[in-house]
Amino acid sequence: MNSAPFRVAVVGSGPAGFYAAGHLLAADLAVEVDLFERLPTPWGLVRLGVAPDHPKIKTVSKAFEKIAAKPGFRFLGNVEIGRDISSAELAGLYDAVVYTVGAQTDRRLGIPGEDLPGSIPATALVAWYNGHPDFADLDVDLSGERAVVIGAGNVAIDVARMLVLTEEELRATDTADAAIEAIAGAGLREVVMLARRGPAQAAFTTPEVIELQELAGADAIVDPAELVLDAASAAAVPGDTNAERNLDALATIAAMPVTGKPRRLQVRFCVSPVEILGDGKVEAIVIEHNRLEADEQGRIQAVPTGERETIPCSLVLRSVGYRGIAIAGVPFDERAGTIANRDGRIVDADGVVVPGAYCAGWIKRGPSGVIGTNKKCATGTVDGLLADVAEGRLAGGAAASAERVSALLAERGVEVVTNKGWAAIDAVELARGTEQGRPRVKLTRWDELLAAARG
Ligand code: NAP
Repeated sequence: MNSAPFRVAVVGSGPAGFYAAGHLLAADLAVEVDLFERLPTPWGLVRLGVAPDHPKIKTVSKAFEKIAAKPGFRFLGNVEIGRDISSAELAGLYDAVVYTVGAQTDRRLGIPGEDLPGSIPATALVAWYNGHPDFADLDVDLSGERAVVIGAGNVAIDVARMLVLTEEELRATDTADAAIEAIAGAGLREVVMLARRGPAQAAFTTPEVIELQELAGADAIVDPAELVLDAASAAAVPGDTNAERNLDALATIAAMPVTGKPRRLQVRFCVSPVEILGDGKVEAIVIEHNRLEADEQGRIQAVPTGERETIPCSLVLRSVGYRGIAIAGVPFDERAGTIANRDGRIVDADGVVVPGAYCAGWIKRGPSGVIGTNKKCATGTVDGLLADVAEGRLAGGAAASAERVSALLAERGVEVVTNKGWAAIDAVELARGTEQGRPRVKLTRWDELLAAARG
């Protein structure tokens, strides 16, 4: 009988990756997990996506730290699949591979002017203010008076709010230093969020709307006329708790006096972007008003009315959803922007299961849900993997040892950041935070991060 542990590579150390690793290590199976990560730091969107002024959401990292401390767990940061080691090599080196790489790019609007300088995906702004080392030099021109955010999801509301926080509010967080300086010193006076459908269909959630009522340095503005529901929306709202609560919270904002705070954050409904205008950079956005109509499935859709207006602005943040990126050698569903899979088992172009290949999180089901949603998603995938082992569809014992994997990466000159290296980065950031009375002060550059990991 083979007594070698079952060895699994998990690719991507965001919530889905950690939850997958945790569920594997809790299973009744001798198992070792190597958690690969392209960056020197773990936790994915918990570190680099969650808004810095939402520290409670970030405390989920404590659960990830517990998983990282379990016997059989290794963190292999600063290793990029496809550059340092291929997906085919991983398949040969491990008994199973679970891809949890998230959705690493943005969905496109498909309108003229989308690529003008000054039109950037909200995902990039989020990465920039969270200190993502690939975005430290993002060109965010906040000198103009008005920024427009397109979309009505929680990412849109996060970026709109972050741009109107005061220096004091920002300094209480782990926002990247460069972003604090840029936002606090910005000439920005107004942020306008554009939702293509009505207030009853907005994707954002109520706690985020309530936060807009309490901004220290900005008046939140909603036109009460835009909260009057059409017949189809009014019929759909009862029983839709998020819509009911959002409408209440938006009505509170609509009734609030505008007190002349330094900045304004306006939320507008039933308007779609048509074109971004500018000579060499963003100068304005053309929007079209929509009416709402239920389609054959009863889903309420935005239908353009032909009425247009132009809003002068110098920055457009496109926040209409994330999208997954294909990994060389791993079957990809272009339409969905996810890895082709059935309940987390990766399938080839003919729909046949690829033995030993799995996925979880946003790259499995698309960019939806909150952090906890990925626990159920990753647990589901790992339960499938464990069933494949138990029912003999997946034999273990063929994997290379942990030492062999380390030796291979060393031969290739890859400077792996282990859990010890990450602990060193963490200690530097926390110490800098303590000095400044902040939760942490992030290292935002590759060389600083790697130097701290060595230290
Ligand atoms: P999202 O919730 O899917 O919202 C996307 C928004 O873009 C929707 O309002 C959508 O409107 C709009 N949209 C799509 N295509 C458009 C177009 N062509 N023109 C205009 N608007 C368009 O995506 P997200 O905001 O990126 O968030 C991703 C996930 O992360 C969500 O599940 C979110 O809840 C979660 N998240 C949670 C938090 C938190 O808990 N605080 C924070 C950030 C993110 P339609 O509805 O009309 O399609």
